[in-house]
Amino acid sequence: CGIFAYLNYLTPKSRQEVLDLLVTGLKRLEYRGYDSTGVAIDSPDNKNIVMVKRTGKVKVLEEAIQEHFSGGDYSEPVLTHIGIAHTRWATHGVPCERNSHPHRSDEENGFVVVHNGIITNYNDVKTFLAKRGYEFESDTDTEVFAKLVHHLWKTHPTYSFRELVEQAILQVEGAFAIAVKSKHFPGECVASRRSSPLLVGIKTKTRLATDHIPILYGKDDKKLNPDQDADSGKQQEIRPHGQSRELPVLPRSESTSEF
Ligand code: GLU
Repeated sequence: CGIFAYLNYLTPKSRQEVLDLLVTGLKRLEYRGYDSTGVAIDSPDNKNIVMVKRTGKVKVLEEAIQEHFSGGDYSEPVLTHIGIAHTRWATHGVPCERNSHPHRSDEENGFVVVHNGIITNYNDVKTFLAKRGYEFESDTDTEVFAKLVHHLWKTHPTYSFRELVEQAILQVEGAFAIAVKSKHFPGECVASRRSSPLLVGIKTKTRLATDHIPILYGKDDKKLNPDQDADSGKQQEIRPHGQSRELPVLPRSESTSEF
């Protein structure tokens, strides 16, 4: 029901600090309602991705995080660091730890995914992947996405992380927002959306090239940052609420063909 990701690039932060930010993000999303929660961050040696998931409230996850990530290794500051987090409102599969996000591509946690919404053709994608040896450990629609990205990574070794997620997005149907983290692409996070909202916040020490100031729109196209009116000459892209740039979806018959 809510996804949250944090990328640290500015100043070194410890994994514990990143986890605190993820929990704060989840608390801000609490009002949307949820039945389970989870986070994923890099292991202290940066060789793996560690996930903690719980059914119930963010508070329960917060306690589990304190238990799981206490110790010196997690308090050491690192520069580039990415964490992803999720509050779930189950649509496919009962609320339980096994069905909680993040979901993973394989036992090595190559790709981990948090997802808000529904992948309506998940059964077709699941059948496609099962035929290629993938075994599923949850009852969710989400898990197919992690495994689909993994399949594409194996079959298209030259693709960038972004291209892998883009190609996977082309194969799935439905409305969703998604964030993906990968052991194979450390320091990167790819997020995408189709018909669901997804906000990106950027904090920089110096101002970014301010030629590009996106305007945020709320319900009924009410401007959320009217202060930028004075700067309107510099706005390059205005995307009113409800007019997202849709990604093309392959025709149904092709969506699970060889790719
Ligand atoms: N369809 C996914 C699931 O059931 C995501 C639901 C959500 O938006 O929380 O796990």
